[in-house]
Amino acid sequence: MYTTGYYKEPGPKLDEDSPFKSMMERFRFAANILELDEGMFQYLASPVKQVIVSIPVVMDSGEIEVFEGYRVIHDNVLGPSKGGIRYAPDVNLEEVKALASWMTWKCAIVNVPFGGAKGGVRCDPTRLSKGELERLTRRYTSNMLEVFGPDRDIPAPDMNTNEQVMAWIMDTYSMNAHKTETAVVTGKPLILGGSQGRKEATGRGVVTVTLAALNKKGMLPNKCTVAVQGFGNVGSVSAELMYEQGAKVIAISDLSGGYYNKDGIDIPKAKEYAQNNNNLLEGYSKAEKISNEELLQLECDILIPAAKEDQIGRHNAGNIQARIIAEGANGPVTANADSILEDKGIMVIPDILANAGGVTVSYFEWVQDRQGYFWTEERVNRRLNRMMRDAFDNLFKVSEEHDITLRQAAYVYGINKVATTLKMRGIYG
Ligand code: GLU
Repeated sequence: MYTTGYYKEPGPKLDEDSPFKSMMERFRFAANILELDEGMFQYLASPVKQVIVSIPVVMDSGEIEVFEGYRVIHDNVLGPSKGGIRYAPDVNLEEVKALASWMTWKCAIVNVPFGGAKGGVRCDPTRLSKGELERLTRRYTSNMLEVFGPDRDIPAPDMNTNEQVMAWIMDTYSMNAHKTETAVVTGKPLILGGSQGRKEATGRGVVTVTLAALNKKGMLPNKCTVAVQGFGNVGSVSAELMYEQGAKVIAISDLSGGYYNKDGIDIPKAKEYAQNNNNLLEGYSKAEKISNEELLQLECDILIPAAKEDQIGRHNAGNIQARIIAEGANGPVTANADSILEDKGIMVIPDILANAGGVTVSYFEWVQDRQGYFWTEERVNRRLNRMMRDAFDNLFKVSEEHDITLRQAAYVYGINKVATTLKMRGIYG
């Protein structure tokens, strides 16, 4: 057992269920299976770089407000680091650290040549005007000019950031580089060097691996019921593609609560409703209103938590009735719920596999930007499906070999790949 080192250093008190604690618990389990030596464990547990910046913004009122921004580079063993940037009132360094290391394992699992990183700005984006959001984004980027770069560290969208935010990052970086550098960020608008299929990629990947899991269990999508938590980019696309597969999507949810219809929800119509309603399902009348907690505990075949971290923990894991959980969000299940779900025989497709479609198409976008040659949507989706499918099959094999869960297999495979590469590169100095 690994008892010393980074994780034990005094630092901010960790919540019992903090994403960083969950990540470390699973990391330690995999490290034991791999018999990683202590030095390698220390290396892979410690982020390469953690940057905290303050971001002064002149608000529309004329007053200055100062925000805090983070970028954590967990590692760059496999290549330049890659990972999204989130804007949220509760973002903090511990959370960003966990998310950055998940990016490392995620990239390793789908075989894209990137290390892992994550960024965030502690702010409430719903209270910022478009102008304030732009000034905040540009100043954050400007503070990170030495960190970001197409060969160094490449951001992307995450919670509450979108194509427009990526366009401002690209422009700010390019203005300072005195040339247009599209490959410095992914998830850009198509017109600025974005990729076909990038917006839908995470949800599409979730559905690819869900179908692969159904296949292993001998289940058919058109005989399945599905509940989806979260109706943002990942949740709405996952719901829509499962609906297209003939599955009955019996529940969806967003910040306004959950919506349940035992006969199934017409997802394209619900999407259209939300689009015309400030991106909220509030007031959607073709379903019964339920709470988020009730949604998670519904009797269904497939549960797709696609909202945020720490939704299924020790307190409710025992009540989950789904047969398969496909983690659209990062970290929706805490580590202390893992064994409860395992004992119930629920197959969990872990986040670092299930939602890796986003970074996979980010990789395609980066490749296309660097080549100046753009692919059709058909090519993007075909390659995405193949990579996700291969990753699923691969991890399934690892899980059978070691008689472990898919999540444990994902950590074992990801960590082993980075550790093996690191051994070949050696330690400089
Ligand atoms: N934010 C996404 C994730 O968590 C995408 C990251 C990227 O494309 O770099 O996987």
